[in-house]
Amino acid sequence: MNENTYIAILGAGESGVGAAILAKKQGFKVFVSDMGTISYQYKQILEQNNIDFEEGMHSVDTILKAAEVIKSPGIPEKAPLIQQIKALNIPVISELEFAARYTNAKLICITGSNGKTTTTLLTYHILKQAGLNVGLAGNVGKSFALQVANESYEYYVIEISSFQLDDMYDFKADIAVLLNITPDHLDRYEYTFQNYINSKFRILQNMNSNDSFIYCSDDEVLIRELQQRTIVPHSFVYTTTSDTTKSAYFDADMIQVQTPQKERLSMSVYDMLLKGKHNYGNTMAAAIAAQIVDIKNDQIRESLKSFSGVEHRLEKLSYTVRGVEFINDSKATNVNSTWYALESMDDNVIWIAGGTDKGNEYESLHELARTKVKALVCLGIDNTKLIASFTNIVPHITEAKSMKEAVVKAYNLAQKGDTVLLSPCCASFDLFKNYIDRGIQFKEEVRNL
Ligand code: ADP
Repeated sequence: MNENTYIAILGAGESGVGAAILAKKQGFKVFVSDMGTISYQYKQILEQNNIDFEEGMHSVDTILKAAEVIKSPGIPEKAPLIQQIKALNIPVISELEFAARYTNAKLICITGSNGKTTTTLLTYHILKQAGLNVGLAGNVGKSFALQVANESYEYYVIEISSFQLDDMYDFKADIAVLLNITPDHLDRYEYTFQNYINSKFRILQNMNSNDSFIYCSDDEVLIRELQQRTIVPHSFVYTTTSDTTKSAYFDADMIQVQTPQKERLSMSVYDMLLKGKHNYGNTMAAAIAAQIVDIKNDQIRESLKSFSGVEHRLEKLSYTVRGVEFINDSKATNVNSTWYALESMDDNVIWIAGGTDKGNEYESLHELARTKVKALVCLGIDNTKLIASFTNIVPHITEAKSMKEAVVKAYNLAQKGDTVLLSPCCASFDLFKNYIDRGIQFKEEVRNL
């Protein structure tokens, strides 16, 4: 490609606008097109950088003249425009694929069905606290492309979703973390789980034997898939069991991490702010990555002591009301994440769940619900499936149509020492803008009690 090459960018959100700035800086002709409304802030950035754009439409003829198309991960592969572009053999790539061409930084890439944001932020926190010149990118923070254009980081910690991986071809991670694979977003994968699994495994493409692959051996889907594949990078395995043969394991409330040529890192989970078995797994993944980039155990330990987690993910509110605790796990939008939330609770939970069902199978939650949940408040427009699934499992079930109603009902059902847990295992779009809006409303209504 030369400087007259014309690049079309579909979607003017954080990643699209970042890609536009980088492409312009690299001397390409750039056109940004967004079917929706572009936010004021992004329009200003595009204008200031003299980048052509349109909103509320796609000028198909113009887009089809591009040598390459950078697509927002939100636009599905089956969208008619994408089909037209592909029919003409115009390459469609993600912003991450594009930006990676223009940096020599070491890339620590984190994917999985659950735990990406938590593990990405924790890994970034450890590297940053240790004084590394590191950027945070992907689904969190500023776009990777924008940072490649404006910064000169030596490391990036990047959260990567399957939608981004789908449009990545030559991208290579130096360290790849694959946390887990449970069914999610199947509507984008022809309702075929294997397609989604294949997408997640693209994180390993192009890696060589000097690179590192960190994964969790507790995940059956992952392990089964690994048996079918040849894995080139060096593997580091962690487990939340006490299997001492792994690079990291969990035993007697201690996490133990030992990668080759490094001292063992032992740390009591009581010294860490992150709680829950899944978070011990996430912590091990982050600690292994940190040891690989040569961060000293003392520095890792200090960072683990100070990382308090991420808002809306098993976020314990800092106050109790009449001795009742409140936990905001609004980001738990699938069954697996809620399983871990319930698993980490004592047996005195008033559980608020529900929303837009994504084809959930609730059976895997029955055992935990039976032993730990005193009452279930179903918060959704249609709660039929949830009620049917937990009748005779949970002693008391009630419904709510707003967050206020849900919080008040849950609070009235709770006694001193109980925990009200919002862990919906459903998407939020029936009653809320998104999971953030749902979590914020939860905290507001708890404050109003
Ligand atoms: P993601 O970015 O993959 O959506 P988050 O870190 O935002 O992951 O967490 C989403 C939800 O999943 C939260 O409810 C969180 O408590 C839960 N979670 C975090 N780590 C894991 C894990 N390793 N396994 C299962 N659930 C997890």
